[in-house]
Amino acid sequence: TFTLGAKISNWDEERSLWLSRNQDFPNIVNGKARILLLTGSPPGPCDNAIGDHYLLKSIKNKIDYCRIHGIEIVYNMAHLDKELSGYWAKLPLIRRLMLSHPEVEWIWWMDSDALFTDMVFELPLSKYKDHNMVIHGYPDLLFDQKSWIALNTGSFLFRNCQWSLDLLDDWAPMGPKGPVREEAGKILTANLKGRPAFEADDQSALIYLLITKTEWMNKVYIENSYFLHGYWAGLVDRYEEMMEKYHPGLGDERWPFVTHFVGCKPCGSYGDYPVQRCLNSMERAFNFADNQVLKLYGFRHRGLLSPKIKRTRNETVTPLEYVDRFDIRHSAQATS
Ligand code: UDP
Ligand code: MN
Repeated sequence: TFTLGAKISNWDEERSLWLSRNQDFPNIVNGKARILLLTGSPPGPCDNAIGDHYLLKSIKNKIDYCRIHGIEIVYNMAHLDKELSGYWAKLPLIRRLMLSHPEVEWIWWMDSDALFTDMVFELPLSKYKDHNMVIHGYPDLLFDQKSWIALNTGSFLFRNCQWSLDLLDDWAPMGPKGPVREEAGKILTANLKGRPAFEADDQSALIYLLITKTEWMNKVYIENSYFLHGYWAGLVDRYEEMMEKYHPGLGDERWPFVTHFVGCKPCGSYGDYPVQRCLNSMERAFNFADNQVLKLYGFRHRGLLSPKIKRTRNETVTPLEYVDRFDIRHSAQATS
């Protein structure tokens, strides 16, 4: 049967020994757990050139968020395991990065079609001290309805530990491209509410694993108090209203932390929504977020659909006043 690699069973001991011998690479820096954001896209160009442009916007958005919050970032375009292509590619990648970066405490996977839309909000990591996986979802949809959208694997975190390696091993076997993935898809469709007939995907496989082996749930935190993943369709048309009524830093329906373009497939050839609606919506999400970044520099977009910017304040001979007022890093420090 399929495995992600040589079976590792003593990672917690190995890692803590490594950390004690490599004190220049601590897993906690200035009191904060070290986080690595992991994202990526297929090895080749998109079917449509505009798709590559939105991949660029998407990585710029993530670089901005990570720079502001002191998070490291890895962009992957390789298929580490040719059997686990497409949406399954994240599994061998997460495992590889955990093992090669013992100093990283949390690996945070984020899809290429998900954008940060709250540049101020920070993960409430202290809430997760007794958990090893954090994922957006709803327990009732998972356990009562067995819905295939109970959880979303577009943005989730794994602690770097043995438990996570074991979960990845248990999650991967439905992934191999071809007959294995096809057959597994039938099991998933038969067991998960609302799931169309198609090959096994990573999200359905995780949901199926958690409802059939509930002991995993002891260390899984199902988060829905803010949008670790936020479904775009209900959010993108409300950005102006949010700007009028609220402010960044809330992370929930008032100012969503992440807007995820589920079903849009900007880099592929067909999705579930009209292409133009997807592209306009992604443009709006990008600019909504970029306005929060540009504020420090005294600019903002002319409108949420415009790449053009305008000044929001005049040049000054006392620039440091604005650093104190507008640098997100200061407000983030003050609230943590
Ligand atoms: N992905 C990747 N390499 C691939 C295919 C997908 O890194 O060859 C990543 C990419 O970040 C994408 C995510 O896996 O957003 C989920 O894949 P899916 O096919 O579900 O794409 P989406 O619907 O999120 O665009
Ligand atoms: Mn996605």
